[in-house]
Amino acid sequence: MIPALSKIAAVPPGSTIGIVGGGQLGRMLAIAAAQLGYRCHIFDPHERPIAADVAADFTRAEFGDVDALARFGEQVDVATYEFENLAAEPLAVLGDKLRPGLRSLAVAQDRAEEKSFIEASGGRVARWCRVDAFDDVMAAVADVGCPLVLKTRRYGYDGKGQAWIRSAGEAQAAWETIGHEPAIAEAGVDFLAEFSVIVARSADGAHAFWDSAQNVHEGGILRHSHIPCGAEVAAQVDEARSEAVRIANALGHVGVLTVEYFASRDGPLVNEIAPRVHNSGHWTIEGAITSQFEQHIRAICGLPLGPTDLIRERVTMDNLIGEDVLRWAGLIAEPGAHLHLYGKGAPRPGRKMGHVTRLG
Ligand code: AMP
Repeated sequence: MIPALSKIAAVPPGSTIGIVGGGQLGRMLAIAAAQLGYRCHIFDPHERPIAADVAADFTRAEFGDVDALARFGEQVDVATYEFENLAAEPLAVLGDKLRPGLRSLAVAQDRAEEKSFIEASGGRVARWCRVDAFDDVMAAVADVGCPLVLKTRRYGYDGKGQAWIRSAGEAQAAWETIGHEPAIAEAGVDFLAEFSVIVARSADGAHAFWDSAQNVHEGGILRHSHIPCGAEVAAQVDEARSEAVRIANALGHVGVLTVEYFASRDGPLVNEIAPRVHNSGHWTIEGAITSQFEQHIRAICGLPLGPTDLIRERVTMDNLIGEDVLRWAGLIAEPGAHLHLYGKGAPRPGRKMGHVTRLG
């Protein structure tokens, strides 16, 4: 431990940070943590998760293995998670060491809980209803109207677990596509643009935002983010930020929280929240004074939040999805392109293999 810092940080540099989940977000968190003198311990069921390649320790165990989680908890000073599709109950064994806490995880991993929570905290969402049976799908077609999208309540990401219904005749096929899982039906939003608000909150309630990126998705997967966002989005950012802070406060969230928005003609509508660092904030590594990854580490360790100002006025981030990664040799030769490769091995369609950030 560094003695002077131990006075201002609950978890001072030299301590060990546990990260549940070993994907690219865990990897970038571990890199940021190492820069601040922390050790990371990855918990993941895979044989060789890409975050473990850059971390001090690795436990290979199923996410629901309470005994393994308890041992992991004894070996770390604070713990966090890099994705929300995890059963919340087993993580309870980590107690107060878990930041953000279980409430953030439980709300964000269930789309019905999430929508209700956002509405209760004063946020607006597209019209939606719960779906547990095919009759509910038909009721949604009548009440919410088409187009609408069915989204499984749990375990959906990057557009997975979703099916569109453009007319009543497509309802049965959509219900089959999502495997008759408990779901929500949500009105299709004819949005002007998509954007995200990324906020970091410390245990004492201090918070910091980055500039909001305008995001472009293709097939449900984020393709591109850029700063600054267009004028139509910029006009909605203040309202969206106030709402994001209300959500973070209501959750008692500690760490980074991402709120994804549709900029609709009637103002910002929350699409979903992620209780973590987010793909639409990868640009902050080179584009902001403090990156989302460093800020998350600061927040969960009780260090002061860092400044989030832009390094340059314009920043773009493009994901390298599937075979896009084969362009790496050209990208690394491009002056000013910051290439990030996640070390995932073989590209597969839809797999996020890396990203490239350009400033100015
Ligand atoms: P999600 O997994 O819910 O974030 O959805 C992924 C992407 O699908 C979003 O970023 C949008 O581009 C699109 N999408 C999801 N829900 C809707 C909706 N209700 N209306 C229009 N587009 C949507």
